Amino acid sequence: MNDSVTLSRPAATRTENFDVLIVGAGISGVGGAYHLTHQRPGTKFVVLEAQETFGGTWWTHKYPGIRSDSDLHTFGYRFKPWRGVPIATADEIRAYMGEVIAENDLARHIRYGHTISSAKWSSRDNLWTIEATRADTSETCRFTANFLWMCQGYYRHSEGYTPHWDGMETYKGRIVHPQNWPEDLDYSDKKVLVIGSGATAATVVPAMAGKCEHVTMLQRSPTYFRSGRNAIELAEQLRELHIEEAWIHEIVRKKILHDQALFAKRTFEEPEQVRQELLGAVRALLPPDYDVDTHFTPNYRPWRQRLAFVPDGDLFAGIRSGAASVVTGEIERFTEKGVLLKSGEELAADLIVTATGFNLCVLGDIAFEVDGRPVKFSDTVTYRGTMFTGMPNMVWVFGYFRASWTLRADLVADFVCRLLKHMTEKGVRKVEVALRPEDKDMKLLPWIDEENFNPGYMLRGMDLLPKRGDKPEWAHTQDYWNEKDWFPAIDLDDAAFVYGK
Ligand SMILES: Cc1cc2nc3c(=O)[nH]c(=O)nc-3n(C[C@H](O)[C@H](O)[C@H](O)COP(=O)(O)OP(=O)(O)OC[C@H]3O[C@@H](n4cnc5c(N)ncnc54)[C@H](O)[C@@H]3O)c2cc1C
Repeated sequence: MNDSVTLSRPAATRTENFDVLIVGAGISGVGGAYHLTHQRPGTKFVVLEAQETFGGTWWTHKYPGIRSDSDLHTFGYRFKPWRGVPIATADEIRAYMGEVIAENDLARHIRYGHTISSAKWSSRDNLWTIEATRADTSETCRFTANFLWMCQGYYRHSEGYTPHWDGMETYKGRIVHPQNWPEDLDYSDKKVLVIGSGATAATVVPAMAGKCEHVTMLQRSPTYFRSGRNAIELAEQLRELHIEEAWIHEIVRKKILHDQALFAKRTFEEPEQVRQELLGAVRALLPPDYDVDTHFTPNYRPWRQRLAFVPDGDLFAGIRSGAASVVTGEIERFTEKGVLLKSGEELAADLIVTATGFNLCVLGDIAFEVDGRPVKFSDTVTYRGTMFTGMPNMVWVFGYFRASWTLRADLVADFVCRLLKHMTEKGVRKVEVALRPEDKDMKLLPWIDEENFNPGYMLRGMDLLPKRGDKPEWAHTQDYWNEKDWFPAIDLDDAAFVYGK
C-alpha cells in the first residue's frame, strides 16, 4: 500500500497517506489500533480523535459518579485482564485504556484534537480522502487512506439531548445536561431535580444524594434496575487461589456471558416471571410501604431497554435515607421555581439536571461522498451492522446494547484484520458489500427492531440509520452469542463481497 508522505504548500493542504485510518480513540478505536498492530503488523495507520485525549465516552462524561453499567470483564478487551471491581468509574476505565496504549506503544499512532469533517472515496484511486480540523491551530489537515475504520460511537459528544419544555426560559435556576457537566458546579446547598430514570439518572442521583440539600429523580415512566454487590464472587475465589489474572479474565468472562445468555433467554421465554423477580428485588431494597408499583414498575418487557445495574443498591440506599426521592409524572411546563407536572404538583429546584439522553450521531457528523456523490446513510443496507452497501472500504463499530459494547468491538476488529489480509492475498484494494441475487426481494427494515429494543435516542434517529434486511447477514442482530461464532466463519468470498483492483 502507498507509504509516501506528500508535502505541498501551503501547510493546510499537506496530505499524509495511510493504509488504514481509524476515527475516534474511544474503547473501539483504541481496540482497533491494538488489533491492527498485533494482527496486521506493518500496517501504516493513524487514529484521529476530536477530543484532547483518549477515552471517548469515558472522557466526555464527567457528571458525579460516572461509571459503567456493565461489568468490566466483558466491557474490557478480551486481550487485557480486568483486575478491578466489575462496575468501574470512568477514571478506572481510562486508566485501563491508558495501559493498553502504553503497553502497546499506540500513542505514536493517535492524533488528538483532530475533528474530521469530510471523507470522500475515489474509486479511481481506491482511497478515502479525509479532512480534519486541528483544535490547536485551526488548520485543515488532509489524509488519504485505503481503509476507513469508523469507531466514532453513536452519539454526538459535543452536546446531549434536552427536550424542549414550555417555560424553560422562565426558570430562574440552572439547567445542566450530564454530558456537559460544568467543572465548577457547586451543588452542596442546592435542591436538585434530575429529569430521567435511565442509567445516567441512576448514577447521578445516588452520587448527589447526601451531598446536596435533596435530590429528586423525576421520571415520566419507570425503568428496570438490577442491584447487587459490586463484586464477582467467582473472580474473588479464583484470586484467592492465586490463579493467573489472564485465566481469571477468561473464565469470568465466560461465566458472565453464560449467565447473561440464560437471563436474556428467560426475558423472552418467561418475561412475567423475570419481571416479578426484578420487582421483588427492588422491593426488598425499599421501605415496606414504598410505592414500587408507581415508581419502579415499568410498562415494557424486561430488557427491551438496557437494564441498568445499581452497584451495592446505592440508588435505593439514597431513597431509604431520605436524601433522594422519586416522582413519577409528566412535565406540563417549567416555572420560575422548577417544573409543574400534569398532575398539578409543582417541584421546586435550584438546579435541574436533564438526564434525558443523547443525540444520535451517525458517522460522526462527517460529510461522506463516494465518487462525488454525497452519501445518504439511510439509503444503504447494512452487512452485519458493520459494512454498508455502496460504501467501499469502510466499517463501523456499533457494539451491543444488551451485552458489553467491547465484545463486538473485538469481533469486528478480527473481521477487519481478516478482511485486510484477504484483500492483500487477493491483490485487491477495494471491497464493498452488495445485495446478492437471492437478496433481491429481501424485505428492508429499520436498523433496529423496535419491538426488541427501543431506547429514545434510537427511535428519534431511526430514519438516519441504514436499513437492515430480514437475514442475519444483513442485520445488526444485537446477538453476541450467535455472532461470536458467525463472525469468524464469515466467508469473505461470498457473493456479498465485491472486490475491485
Ligand atoms: C454514560 C455512558 C455509559 C455507558 N456505559 C456503558 C457500559 O457500561 N457498557 C457498555 O457496553 N456500553 C456503555 N455505554 C455505551 C458506550 O458508549 C459504548 O459502550 C462505548 O464506550 C462506545 O465506545 P466507542 O469507542 O465505540 O465510541 P465513543 O466512546 O463514543 O468514542 C468515540 C470517539 O470518536 C470521536 N469522534 C466522533 N466523531 C469524530 C470526528 N468526526 N472526528 C474525530 N473524532 C470523532 C469522539 O470524540 C469519541 O472520542 C455507555 C454510554 C454512555 C454515554
